[in-house]
Amino acid sequence: MAGKVVVVVGVPGVGKTTVINEAVRQAKEAGLQFQVLNFGDVMLELALSQGLVENRDEIRKLRVDTQMALQAEAARDIAKRASSSSVILDTHAIIKTSQGYWPGLPEPVVKALHPNHIVVVEADPQAVISRRAKDQGIRNRSDDLTAEELRFTMEVNRQAAISSAVLSGASVVFVKNEEGKAGEAAAQIVALIK
Ligand code: ATP
Ligand code: AMP
Ligand code: MG
Repeated sequence: MAGKVVVVVGVPGVGKTTVINEAVRQAKEAGLQFQVLNFGDVMLELALSQGLVENRDEIRKLRVDTQMALQAEAARDIAKRASSSSVILDTHAIIKTSQGYWPGLPEPVVKALHPNHIVVVEADPQAVISRRAKDQGIRNRSDDLTAEELRFTMEVNRQAAISSAVLSGASVVFVKNEEGKAGEAAAQIVALIK
């Protein structure tokens, strides 16, 4: 693959997509060439075409074997699209399913993507709770999690990111997305594709 591959992960609602949008703005200003891909967009397109879901938050509620088939197809598609330039990939290191925590970047996926860096976006659990509450009606992210439960999920995310890094040789970068400071988090991602 030509260029850098930066995979961005973090708990739902931590601000990955917001930070990546800000990174796009900053990178354009700096004249950097790259593309942004969203794993969930590709899985949603596939799941919609098969009549499996009506929105993106229903994907993680599907049977895990169904999700696994969608994930494999999406990974093939993304690896193909990522072959020509630097890529920022918006995705998840771990997905909380009805059958347990399931890896977003298992061996076949991470080996197809060859990431240089896995960025784990983190924030204060209380801020994530507020961000999820703000998105009620737009996204359906299970809004009843306590700060303690979120802290646990964040810890599972860290461990999943490290595991995927061990499988691929990527480095893991922890980026704090503080309230009102998505731009500062974005700058740390832009520095990785320079
Ligand atoms: P998902 O994994 O479910 O796609 P996400 O990590 O992509 O979630 P976003 O959709 O980017 O999360 O952000 C969730 C909410 O948090 C949005 O309402 C967004 O505006 C807000 N948000 C993100 N970053 C910040 C920040 N630094 N300060 C304040 N609000 C933020
Ligand atoms: P997002 O908008 O990033 O939350 O993506 C929508 C949904 O796509 C997620 O809630 C997951 O169900 C699914 N998804 C995203 N990335 C992956 C991945 N790497 N592996 C499996 N499912 C994923
Ligand atoms: Mg998102």
